Amino acid sequence: MPAEPPIETPRNLFEAYERLAAGPARPIAGGTDVMVSITGELGPIPDRMLDLSRLDELRGIAMEQGSLVLGARTTYTEIRRSTHCREYLPALVEAAATIGAAQIQNRGTIGGNIANASPAGDTLPVLLAADAMILVGGQRGEREIAAADFFVDYRKTALAPDELILQVRIPVPAGRSLRFRKVGTRRAQAISKVVMALAWRDLGTAGWSDVRLALGSVAATPVRAKATEAALEGVRPTPEVADLAAETLAGELKPIDDVRSTAEYRRVVSARVLHRLLRDAEGW
Ligand SMILES: Cc1cc2nc3c(=O)[nH]c(=O)nc-3n(C[C@H](O)[C@H](O)[C@H](O)COP(=O)(O)OP(=O)(O)OC[C@H]3O[C@@H](n4cnc5c(N)ncnc54)[C@H](O)[C@@H]3O)c2cc1C
Repeated sequence: MPAEPPIETPRNLFEAYERLAAGPARPIAGGTDVMVSITGELGPIPDRMLDLSRLDELRGIAMEQGSLVLGARTTYTEIRRSTHCREYLPALVEAAATIGAAQIQNRGTIGGNIANASPAGDTLPVLLAADAMILVGGQRGEREIAAADFFVDYRKTALAPDELILQVRIPVPAGRSLRFRKVGTRRAQAISKVVMALAWRDLGTAGWSDVRLALGSVAATPVRAKATEAALEGVRPTPEVADLAAETLAGELKPIDDVRSTAEYRRVVSARVLHRLLRDAEGW
């Protein structure tokens, strides 16, 4: 059994930044990803760990200037119970409800899901489709990174090693709809085979605008499907438009075969899930 790395527990953000600046340290929030990965079987064990459990600055759910603001340590259970989340971003509540099961939802955090940057992270397509901004900070100051710029490569993010994720800010403009679907092997404890979030504003006879389609588990990172978004922009999703959008999506995605699924399955299912979302949205 390899030795456990020492854990440091800063009492506030100032101390946390100091410790991160002192040298590489792996943050630990709920630990549901970290604890699985520090056994030594999946790579080197970190030299130091930084326990975020006393950083109250990373907690809380609020509405601020038209955005839903979630502290990085917000758990899935808190998201599910939050009246703000239920009212302003029910798709995130739906996503939270599909993650692991009760134990994981009680400990796992949205900041951990973002920093872990798994292509199968279930909240990530919702954040992409909602144009979320991620607030990060360290001794050099704070900065906001668009979710669209955060996931740079397989499990690589725009976060620097001496920075923490502080908050996620999710705009919730009036008139925007956002839908979420996850396809997994079971209803709980299932890693996604395909996970999708679709956002749009309905302009009536002028059709849909600000269409965002984001997917997980179909590429090395969570991705936006921009050609498919373009096929839906400025039109109403009639059955013909939905056929075209589904076909565009199947052509646009370049998923891989892996232990959970084949590339072909992911392509076909993504197209069908999109078609179904469009049909449900328009009621035909
Ligand atoms: C049984 C099981 C089932 C699961 N099911 C799902 C599922 O259905 N869907 C899904 O998406 N995920 C699932 N997960 C993965 C995991 O629960 C989520 O990714 C969760 O959100 C991680 O949050 P955490 O707080 O536990 O992160 P941790 O394990 O504490 O940390 C994860 C990573 O993020 C970093 N980190 C954490 N917080 C911060 C921060 N504030 N700033 C900077 N870096 C930070 C850590 O250093 C680490 O690299 C599952 C895990 C398990 C063990």
